[in-house]
Amino acid sequence: MRTLINPATGVELDISPTSASLDDTDAVIAKAHDAFPAWRDLAPGERARLLRAFAAVVDEHLEELAQLEVLNAGHTIGNARWEAGNVRDCLNYYSAAPERLFGRQIPVAGGTDLTFHEPLGVVSIIVPWNFPMPIAAWGFAPALAAGNTVVLKPAELTPLTAIRIGELALLAGLPPGVLNVIPGQGSVVGQRFVTHPLVRKVCFTGSTAVGKQIMAGCADQVKRVTLELGGKSANIIFADTDVAAAAASAPGGVFDNAGQDCCARSRILVQRSAYDEFVGRFETAVKDFRVLDPASEQSQMGPMVSAGQRDSVQAYVDAATVAFSGSAPDGPGWWLPPTVVESSDTSEAVWREEIFGPVVAVMAFDDEEEAVALANDSEYGLSGSIFTDDLGRGMRVARAVEAGNLSVNSHASVRYWTPFGGYKQSGLGRELGPDAPNAFTEEKNVFIAH
Ligand code: NAP
Ligand code: MG
Repeated sequence: MRTLINPATGVELDISPTSASLDDTDAVIAKAHDAFPAWRDLAPGERARLLRAFAAVVDEHLEELAQLEVLNAGHTIGNARWEAGNVRDCLNYYSAAPERLFGRQIPVAGGTDLTFHEPLGVVSIIVPWNFPMPIAAWGFAPALAAGNTVVLKPAELTPLTAIRIGELALLAGLPPGVLNVIPGQGSVVGQRFVTHPLVRKVCFTGSTAVGKQIMAGCADQVKRVTLELGGKSANIIFADTDVAAAAASAPGGVFDNAGQDCCARSRILVQRSAYDEFVGRFETAVKDFRVLDPASEQSQMGPMVSAGQRDSVQAYVDAATVAFSGSAPDGPGWWLPPTVVESSDTSEAVWREEIFGPVVAVMAFDDEEEAVALANDSEYGLSGSIFTDDLGRGMRVARAVEAGNLSVNSHASVRYWTPFGGYKQSGLGRELGPDAPNAFTEEKNVFIAH
């Protein structure tokens, strides 16, 4: 395994999980396949009880998991506690699914027609480094609830919380082989999920480039695939809104998790008559944003996950004209300050590309039509925000923006009980919400002649 490094200090961790080989991966897939029939055939109420027990054990270890994420990924302790709590909440929410995996009875002549949601078998989850705990749970909680067994690959950079969650599943009484965490390289373990015939689905979150390869690879076996990919989401601010409030909330909308968030509102569109006021207030808010040791309770933003990610973001900053920036600690660790670019050219990389770091581009627009056109001028379509005091306009623009998750007068776009996913090249399929277990099933239709 590659050496793990604390992103806040640059110091090597003395934990180094073993990277699975191809043979190890095949052995774990075989184990998950063996565990499938008994898990599928468990009484729904019993599967539900085990998922609730799993949630309770995660809850008992919430602080341990959160501290592990601070150490491994540099997440602020406040965020990391939310993330561990999100794993517990996903498990509790989907623990209600086994007894509610309803089919339908459809009127037909001469008999009875029934549908069933049947589990796929072994399903795989490939997790990126930016939200190691939530993204793992968004996959495994509904997949397990629907009666599948799971093989899960965390990102090489951030495997520690997933490995611990795998241990907690056993502690909670899940049978061995039901949830399997396999640390290792994407090109080895992840790629094997795509090619192994016993893996019936690939649920992938990460870069659009790798997502396209996975989708192409899955075609060979017509393997089911869900993709959660990149974003370049717009935060659209109309002059009729409370500009001070919109400016105060804008840093959190893009710099949370140091901008390493597929939902980051990394393009800010401001109506021209409010532009100067917004930018002035935004500068104050950016300078006040607390970029501190992520273990500190006061920290609003920690370091980048790795030296490589820091360098990749720094290259975008070097190629742009910076308007202003916030602060960041000096010294070791992979730190960058929140950085703001005023943009007037939509062909610039800083405006078009997902930077995945604390960099935001701000641009003026004249009217609603132009705001929508600018927001939609992207191959991505994951999320977005609209700030306006006119509810009609808020709804109109929310319906016009081509993205899966919009919020009006808020940046909140992720709740475990509402659907989440992307338009265009931001993804394929939806996670979370009441229908997520169905995405891990086949719908079977049975006609019985009377
Ligand atoms: P990535 O390469 O797409 O990695 C995501 C996951 O896929 C990791 O577990 C990775 O394994 C695995 N993987 C890599 N190549 C694979 C392959 N050929 N087959 C199967 N699995 C494979 O993303 P990244 O390199 O971590 O980040 C690069 C960029 O992706 C970021 O800068 C950002 O723009 C974007 N990104 C987006 C999201 C999102 O939530 N939408 C999340 C993370 C990254 P390894 O452990 O070997 O890397
Ligand atoms: Mg990669």
